[in-house]
Amino acid sequence: MIGAMEPNLGATLDDLVQQALRCQVPTREQALTVLGSSDDDLLDVVAAGGRVRRHFFGNRVKLNLIINLKSGLCPENCSYCSQRSGSQADVLKYNWIDPVAAAETADRAAASGVKRICLVASGRGPSDRDISRVAETVLAVKEHHPDLEVCTSLGLLTAERAERLLAAGVSAYNHNLNTNEANYPRICSTHTFADRVDTVGVAHAAGLSPCSGAIFGMGETDDEVVDLAVDLRRLGVDSVPINFLIPFEGTPLGEEWQLTPQRCLRILALFRFFFPDTEVRIAGGRELHLRTLQALGLHLANYIFLGDYLTSEGQAGSDDLQMISDAGFVVEGRDQETLPKSRPDLVALRRRGPGTEVAANA
Ligand code: SF4
Repeated sequence: MIGAMEPNLGATLDDLVQQALRCQVPTREQALTVLGSSDDDLLDVVAAGGRVRRHFFGNRVKLNLIINLKSGLCPENCSYCSQRSGSQADVLKYNWIDPVAAAETADRAAASGVKRICLVASGRGPSDRDISRVAETVLAVKEHHPDLEVCTSLGLLTAERAERLLAAGVSAYNHNLNTNEANYPRICSTHTFADRVDTVGVAHAAGLSPCSGAIFGMGETDDEVVDLAVDLRRLGVDSVPINFLIPFEGTPLGEEWQLTPQRCLRILALFRFFFPDTEVRIAGGRELHLRTLQALGLHLANYIFLGDYLTSEGQAGSDDLQMISDAGFVVEGRDQETLPKSRPDLVALRRRGPGTEVAANA
């Protein structure tokens, strides 16, 4: 027989789609079935995830642009990071860029259809002075583009600093969990998984939209991928960036090369099932690891970074836009809502129990 799908996978994918449309989390067994499926079944996995993506996000692709405000020389030791303490990677190193320079980059981004900019700075966390600098930058950006969403990613955060960011016009805060709790001490010893969870909670409590995701390709098992999806779901994040490791020479993970495009797509599908109506973004490593299958990733994620990353270059922004168009997607406009406003489809009117002829659900 040619092209027959592994029998349990077909049933699992059907169930996952139905569950996702009800925003119901996959079971661990279902999740492991997706991650363990064969390359022969890849298009079935993508098609199932794509049904969920289209249900909640249609054919829209939201664009995000990173502006690296302060690059390199971080005292922390995250082993995947080119800016870590002791990194020998030959990346740009500079202190806070001028707010006007950041605003000029935002101008270019806005002209390309970018809906959200992410202002990022290396370091353990921002000082009060750093928050003031970021506030000035937000002001400069908003002067030209009041409707541009501004996310910041500045490291560990206190409640007071989170509130200052909100007051400055920041709408979201990114702080990735990166890997699962058990694996965390293997990738970083200068802060903990709990520190990261805490900062996501602090940002959320202050009223900033929480953005937190992962990096894959660091030796994690399928079970650990699922652990992280469960943890992120528990945090109630609004946006989930999925990074695939960019192996920088001169960092401890510079030799790692574990991902295939198929593995990346299975991971993206899994996160779509875990986060059906939440923004799922293909973040760093898209070009390196998905390569010619990038466009298939758009059937799962509703959100990508346009252009360059923090310290490495992405493909040309014009190629990103071409890919979106060629794959039948459209760039989401700044006047369009990303997340569904309400979910009337989740309300099941009772047609059983008292007042009906049908037995009660008990
Ligand atoms: S805290 Fe951020 S910038 Fe510093 S090493 Fe870790 S990931 Fe890199």
